[in-house]
Amino acid sequence: MSQKPTLTTTAGNPIADNQNSLSAGPRGPLLLQDYQLIEKLAHQNRERIPERVVHAKGWGAFGTLTITNDISRYTKAKLFSPLGKKTELVARFSTVAGEMGAADAERDVRGFSLKFYSEEGNWDLVGNNTPVFFVRDPLKFPDFIHTQKRHPRSNLRSPTAMWDFWSLSPESLHQVTILMSDRGLPTGVRHINGYGSHTYSMLNADNQRVWVKFHFKTQQGHKHWSNAEAAEVVGRTRESTQEDLFGSIEKGDFPKWRMCIQVMTEEQARHTSYNPFDLTKVWPHGEFPLIEVGTVELNRNPDNYFAEIEQAAFSPSNIIPGIGFSPDKMLQARIFSYADAHRYRLGTHYEALPVNAPKCPVNHYHKDGSLRFFEGNPNPDAFYEPNSFNGPAQAPQYAEPPLSLDGDADRHDHRLANDDYVQPRALFELFDAAQKQRLFGNIAAAMGGVPQFIIDRQLAHFDRVHPDYGNGVRAALKAAQ
Ligand code: NDP
Repeated sequence: MSQKPTLTTTAGNPIADNQNSLSAGPRGPLLLQDYQLIEKLAHQNRERIPERVVHAKGWGAFGTLTITNDISRYTKAKLFSPLGKKTELVARFSTVAGEMGAADAERDVRGFSLKFYSEEGNWDLVGNNTPVFFVRDPLKFPDFIHTQKRHPRSNLRSPTAMWDFWSLSPESLHQVTILMSDRGLPTGVRHINGYGSHTYSMLNADNQRVWVKFHFKTQQGHKHWSNAEAAEVVGRTRESTQEDLFGSIEKGDFPKWRMCIQVMTEEQARHTSYNPFDLTKVWPHGEFPLIEVGTVELNRNPDNYFAEIEQAAFSPSNIIPGIGFSPDKMLQARIFSYADAHRYRLGTHYEALPVNAPKCPVNHYHKDGSLRFFEGNPNPDAFYEPNSFNGPAQAPQYAEPPLSLDGDADRHDHRLANDDYVQPRALFELFDAAQKQRLFGNIAAAMGGVPQFIIDRQLAHFDRVHPDYGNGVRAALKAAQ
């Protein structure tokens, strides 16, 4: 029989008895000096950290990006070359609205986040399974999320709040149409595409900038459930996505995605009919074709879900030389708010946790705070900057070329010069007759209990996308009465 290690306190003190509390006689009471008892209870009280306000329910795994095409004419980022280059990554997928215990098979957008451990630091692409989003201005984001969460009095989800907000925010039409289509209820995350969604930039070795969008095409094929199928699945298991992802990786069936980019020059961006930095818009493939980059494969389950997936902290602020931001307003807000959320829920130095720690040298002067367990600069006298003690110093060769901006600082009405109907129409026209019928039915089902004046306001938007869209939903609402 193998020798078991000795059980200890967290301070390493051996524990003689882990079955019986220290009590005055067999009938008690207990003695306060039973530190092992107190430590166990105190630890249990602290096993939960704040769940994410959005994207709380998640699933994740580790894997690899393998480069299959040379895109060095667009970017100098070292993880993209040479051909065949492999970079480790961690992926986390999620639903958006449900809490941590929510069922997996729910109609909702799926988060699709990747952290690439590059030799030049971590690159996080924090996207979704949809190329667009519900709002284009981050000022509207907290209100939008409130409509997806629980009503303050009933503590129930509120279809009235959702459709009220959407019908007053027609920029949401594109994403609402995707959400209510087949792709709004995937069977699991192996069968979804991923999109970086925002517009980013790339810089090549000559510091020339292009705008770029990231796409990850599922190699497992798209698979969805109808509402009725999902209800049956949730009755059987609330963990259908975890079972599917964890199970397939355990048995060696590794899911893969084809990574692609779309590229737009700065000059082209000045002439598109739509704002290419608007998160409610795609770049049509006909104008900006997909360029292959590589393959993402997930091939290792975490050893500890909490440590490696619940504590995985993705932020669009993490970029590497050769990749940059763009004027996308939603991106700028997320650069602040994601890192801020992690400081709040994990602690100040969350980037030092093993799953978040870069696999390259990290040198900074941030000082104290929670999770301050990592080693600092080798020279303790170099604890400020600039200093005369060989502490880490800036490296001007990483400066990005200037980005010229113009326009008056103002609260520009985002509804002006924006067509919120053309791209939802292009999507609607992609659907075959059966897909359209399911779209109408899903919308009618989601509108249960919503006041008629809100439904009418939303129907007017569907009519503007396509008369068949509005009429189809009207017919489905009638059939559901
Ligand atoms: P294309 O016909 O060239 O591309 C259509 C895109 O739509 C493909 O990426 C396809 O993904 C995706 N798609 C197909 N069926 C559905 C569906 N039921 N729900 C959601 N997406 C679907 O057309 P365009 O590039 O001109 O775009 C037309 C419309 O397609 C857009 O308005 C947008 O709504 C949607 N779309 C466009 C994307 C883009 O980046 N251009 C990306 C995703 C959607 P796949 O190949 O994996 O089937």
